[in-house]
Amino acid sequence: MIKAVLFDMDGVLYDSMPSHVRAWNETMSSLGVNASEEDFYMFEGRTGHSTIDILFNRTFGHGATQEEKKRIYEQKAKRFIELESADPKPMPGAFEVLKKVYAMGLQRVIVTGSGQASLFDKLDLHFPGMFDKNKMVTAYDVQYGKPHPEPYLMGLEKSGVMPDEAVVVENAPLGVMSAVAAGIFTIAVNTGPLKDRILKDAGANIIFSSMTELANNIERCFTRPLR
Ligand code: MG
Repeated sequence: MIKAVLFDMDGVLYDSMPSHVRAWNETMSSLGVNASEEDFYMFEGRTGHSTIDILFNRTFGHGATQEEKKRIYEQKAKRFIELESADPKPMPGAFEVLKKVYAMGLQRVIVTGSGQASLFDKLDLHFPGMFDKNKMVTAYDVQYGKPHPEPYLMGLEKSGVMPDEAVVVENAPLGVMSAVAAGIFTIAVNTGPLKDRILKDAGANIIFSSMTELANNIERCFTRPLR
């Protein structure tokens, strides 16, 4: 019996990945760090600090200091806000999915690696009545972040449900790995440029091409035995 749906935020509820990728790319290349757009789609779900460490190690052979990570993440977050012009775009179909989940009487919980306050502040505007701010797991709550199971385990704890009473909706390979490692049935929504195969290999149980496609099939997903 499903009682809660745990939603990733970027690339699931918001069509924010192109701006994240551009903000990361510009920030990192201004520091002489090598990275490609695909890197940021593959790193999606990691905390910003973890992403910075990986890229520093790859380019300079050592991680970044706490101070550098803080400063660089702030630079990236500031650039992201400029690109979104304080007007984040909800993902087409996301509100339909949420309304159906609400109508089924299931809890809705956000589990994100993001620390982007500019999006958290807009949730109630774009998805009124859908989320409880006390039932969110963000970059500020976790120590390890995705792909570690920690964020989704915390999401289960906040929902008060067991792994087999929850479903996760994710768009990123590392997010899928985190959810699967937490023992939760995982729906992948491939809203970015990566191949479906990468999400399948990460362990996704079902893959849809958009939130609209998920909205149109959600009864089928949640009413038949999932395993
Ligand atoms: Mg995502």
